[in-house]
Amino acid sequence: MSGIYIHIPFCKTRCSYCDFYSEVAPTLIPDVINAMVGEIFIRKDYLLDKHIDTIYFGGGTPSVLKPDDFEIIFKAIYSTFHVDSNAEITFEANPDDLTEFFFSDISHLPFNRISIGIQSFVDEQLVQINRRHTALQAIQAIKNAHNAGFKNISIDLIFGLPNQTLKDWEQELIKAFSLGIQHISAYGLTFEKGTAIWKQREIGKIKQVDEEIMNQMYFKLLDLTALHHFVAYEISNFAIDGFRSRHNSAYWKQISYIGIGPSAHSFDVQSRQWNVASIREYTQHIATGSGFYEREILTNNEKFNDFVLVALRTSEGVNLTELNLTVGDELTSHFIKNIKPFIKSGKVEIKDGMFCLTRDGILISNQILTELMKV
Ligand code: SF4
Repeated sequence: MSGIYIHIPFCKTRCSYCDFYSEVAPTLIPDVINAMVGEIFIRKDYLLDKHIDTIYFGGGTPSVLKPDDFEIIFKAIYSTFHVDSNAEITFEANPDDLTEFFFSDISHLPFNRISIGIQSFVDEQLVQINRRHTALQAIQAIKNAHNAGFKNISIDLIFGLPNQTLKDWEQELIKAFSLGIQHISAYGLTFEKGTAIWKQREIGKIKQVDEEIMNQMYFKLLDLTALHHFVAYEISNFAIDGFRSRHNSAYWKQISYIGIGPSAHSFDVQSRQWNVASIREYTQHIATGSGFYEREILTNNEKFNDFVLVALRTSEGVNLTELNLTVGDELTSHFIKNIKPFIKSGKVEIKDGMFCLTRDGILISNQILTELMKV
C-alpha cells in the first residue's frame, strides 16, 4: 500500500506564524491544477506499489479549491492508481471556507476525513496570528462538517500563543472536546525565522510564552486528552480509538508516498525527492516534463536518522528488530549505546521491547534525537 499527498499551494491570506510554502494568487489555481494532472501522469511509475490506501490534500489551503478543481485531480488519480475502496481521503480546510454550501458542493467527492485549521477558539488570539476566521466560524465549521456527514473530524490547535495562560489553554481544550471531534493535532507555537510573528517578537511587540509554562501546557494537553479517551499516538497527535490518521501513520512507518504539487515531498524507501517551491517554476518545468524536483538517494545513516526521528515521536516507539532490518547491526548498536543514558535518567523507557519517550522525555525530545542522530 502507498499514499498520495497533494499540496495545494494557495491561501487567501498568510498567517503570521506560518513558514509553509503557499501564495495568495488565486488566478494561478487553474494552471497549477493542470500542472498537477501533468505531474500525476509523468510520475505514474514512481510508486512500486500502486495500491493507494490514503490520499491527503494539504497546503496551503485545499478548501480554496472549487469542486471542479478537486474533480480534475481525483479523475487523474483514479485513472492512474488503484485506490482502495476503504482508502482514507482527507482534506485540510480553513473554517471560513466550511459553509453549508461548501459541503453541499463537495458532497459527491470521495472525502471521508477533514482536518480543520482551528488553532484557537479565542477571537483576540486569532487576530493576533492573522487567522482569517472567528471563533464562531470555527465552531460552526465543525457543526457543518458533522451535518454534512463527516464522521472523522480532526482539528489543529496551537498552544503557547502570545499572552495565553495555562487556564486559557485548558479552556481551549475543553471547548474542543465539547464539539464531538475524533482527532486533535496540537503544536506549541514556534517562531520560525523570517515569519511575521518572529519579527514581532524581535522588535518586542509580543512576548514568547515561558518554556516552563509551555511544558505545563503540554502536560495539560496529555492529561485532558487522556481524560477524554484520546490516545497520544504521536507527540503532537491525539485520536479516539479507530481514528488515528492513517496517512500520517504511514509516513511514520516508512511507507512510500508520492507528493504532487509545488514543494511536495515524495519517498520511495530508497530515496527522497522534493518539488520546487515555486508555482511559476513548477508549472513551467512540468510543461517540459523535467527539472521540477530534486532527489537524493538515502545513505544508511540517513535511513537510520529518518527511522529514529519519526519512530521515537510515536507512542509505539522504536522497534529494534525493524531498525536492524532497515539499517543493520552497526547502526543498531549505535542506537543502543546512545539511548542508554536516557533510559538511566528516566527520559526513555522500554515497553514490550519498544523504546519509547517518557513524559519527561517528550519535553527534551529534540535533545534526545540530536544525541541519537548519526552524521
Ligand atoms: S492557512 Fe495554513 S498554510 Fe496558509 S498561511 Fe495559514 S497556516 Fe500557513
